Amino acid sequence: MESRKIQLPREIHTGPGIIEETGAICRDLRFKGKVLVVSGSNTYRIGGEDVIESLVDHGFEVEDVIINKASTDTVTEIQDMLGDKKLVLGVGGGKVIDVAKLAATRAGINHISVPTAASHDGIASPRASIKNEGSSVSLPAESPIGVIADTKIISKAPFRLLAAGFADIVSNQTAVRDWELAYRLLNEDFSDSAAALSLMTSKMTMKSAGAIKEGLVESAEVVVKALISSGMAISIAGTSRPASGSEHKFSHALDLVAPKPALHGEQCGVGTIMMMYLHGGDWKYIRNTLERVKAPTTARKLGVKEEHIIEALTLAHTIRKERYTILGDRGLTEEAAEALASTTGVI
Ligand SMILES: [Zn+2]
Repeated sequence: MESRKIQLPREIHTGPGIIEETGAICRDLRFKGKVLVVSGSNTYRIGGEDVIESLVDHGFEVEDVIINKASTDTVTEIQDMLGDKKLVLGVGGGKVIDVAKLAATRAGINHISVPTAASHDGIASPRASIKNEGSSVSLPAESPIGVIADTKIISKAPFRLLAAGFADIVSNQTAVRDWELAYRLLNEDFSDSAAALSLMTSKMTMKSAGAIKEGLVESAEVVVKALISSGMAISIAGTSRPASGSEHKFSHALDLVAPKPALHGEQCGVGTIMMMYLHGGDWKYIRNTLERVKAPTTARKLGVKEEHIIEALTLAHTIRKERYTILGDRGLTEEAAEALASTTGVI
């Protein structure tokens, strides 16, 4: 047996108002001295200020920075600020968390995720999605040492973000099927426990679809906990396989062809409907469940042209080629792509 390492977050804190405990949480994790707080211009106001105040109250020396994009340059910029720091906290959505995560990993220090929205499973995962010259790449990074998810703040974020996070969890359904396929066909490494955690998380969250409503702290809690579990399944597997398969390839392809793509989770949700059809599974249940939380299920609701859906379907298999999925090595013909999208009602 090869040896391997599983890295998980050490402490996960969720609850309404938990952000005010940030300083105490960091102190209990045995940090002290200089820390850096990274946020976005909007998330600084929503959560950054409270994080800084709490840290200062607990004797930390805080420096803070606002970033606007998740690019390689931004990561380097943040990394350069970390020389004398013991810890970095990323307060925001995907971009801020991913930049803080990657910069901390490169600087060899710890980081804490403080999500202000629950829109995808990067909150606790050991991966960071960074933009480089237009296209975005997913890079390996360390898992956060802590997650502080204030469900009151998350419940106040636009509902569209929560629905997208929900859809990203739904996508585990086809991701695990693709992974099983690659295991059977190509003897790819497979982890039963990671697959089980990913599927159970997805199943339970889908069952709660009816309870996911705008503005509710409980709804934010259901989705954020599921996103954290999903991130842990990725950590256990040592690959994003449990949460990313053909439906993610479709979403990445759509990012490349559509002039104005929708949110990551939204696109993955629509991809899951179509990939579940290819897998011969219950794609109607996927579609109905997404509809219950008002996540998009059609090209129109994604705000993407039908031709771009078809083009993305024919290109999807070329994204991350080494990752074998139901799309096979040759992908879909244009006719098959059109038939798939119209049979499932996406176009
Ligand atoms: Zn995703």
